[in-house]
Amino acid sequence: MRRCRGCGTIIRFIRSTQGRQIPVNTKPEAPDGKKMLVFADGVVAREHVRLKQGFISHFASCSQGRALQAEGEGLTYGHSRKL
Ligand SMILES: [Zn+2]
Repeated sequence: MRRCRGCGTIIRFIRSTQGRQIPVNTKPEAPDGKKMLVFADGVVAREHVRLKQGFISHFASCSQGRALQAEGEGLTYGHSRKL
């Protein structure tokens, strides 16, 4: 269990298919075809052929998203960019 250094929310990390650790919210979300989700197998997409629940990238919801980026977690994408 880890906390976001920006806003203090408890987050978890999922390793993406590209080997990058993506911080996500701990609450599972069902795909709605619109929001980007990070799935447990590392796939980042709006829907998944096998998994019915994914997780919202914490960058998409963090109130301090920019601050977290600035801290240099080695994560170069932000909530405004496609994952
Ligand atoms: Zn945060």
